[in-house]
Amino acid sequence: MIIDLHNHTKLCNHASGEMDEYVKEAIEKEIKYFGFSDHAPMEFDKEYRMSFNDMRFYEGEVKRLKDIYKKDIEILLGYEVDYLPNYMDERVINAKVDYLIGSVHFLDGWGFDNPEFIGEYKNRDIDKIWEEYFDAIKSMAKSGKFDIVGHIDLIKVFKYLPKKEIKVIASEAIKEIKRANLVVELNMAGYKKPINELYPSKDILELIKEHDIDITFGSDAHKPSEICKYEDNLKDILKEFDFTKCAVFKDRDRELINF
Ligand SMILES: [Zn+2]
Ligand SMILES: [Zn+2]
Repeated sequence: MIIDLHNHTKLCNHASGEMDEYVKEAIEKEIKYFGFSDHAPMEFDKEYRMSFNDMRFYEGEVKRLKDIYKKDIEILLGYEVDYLPNYMDERVINAKVDYLIGSVHFLDGWGFDNPEFIGEYKNRDIDKIWEEYFDAIKSMAKSGKFDIVGHIDLIKVFKYLPKKEIKVIASEAIKEIKRANLVVELNMAGYKKPINELYPSKDILELIKEHDIDITFGSDAHKPSEICKYEDNLKDILKEFDFTKCAVFKDRDRELINF
């Protein structure tokens, strides 16, 4: 892909590989704009993210690699930030980065995408879980803190699908994303999960087209070999939905690129 803005590093404690190995793989895959967006520090679920002390090192490494590889690729600096009211930290939200991805990984403290806590899906009404999730996405859009919505329908990860129509459940969140002028990422990591499809699903892609919302791309790689591993699947979707432009960010300014 021309752009890949969602990639992790081992600083988050659940990814592997050196940062320059990610960059080399990205060059190999002919990516033009490659962004690191590791899990930002937060006083919550601290073992799955970098620490505040790591920020300086992380940002410095990204800039160092940007300089070293500037002839071959444009490296960008970002964070993936959990949308968790009361936990989002100014040091991250106001960091001098190219972009911030906002993601929902927790509902009332429940890490719903963690296989350890999968049992909880059976304790709750599935439609309520989905509604709660998309309410969180809507509030995230409203918060105005982010540039990109990460894996917009992550709640489908284990294939617990709602009885209600997904388009109905997601519709208010999509409208808010449009109002807030956020970009939605097409995230390829869904292909390695039980759901085995792109985030977002085709239903939500139809809403995105309908509302003319800008898109971008992310591998959500947690090791170098995952970078653009599923790009053929993504390319089929791009053709099917006739997407022709994607967004890239520099210093939190958006630019649309034809691909
Ligand atoms: Zn992760
Ligand atoms: Zn994520």
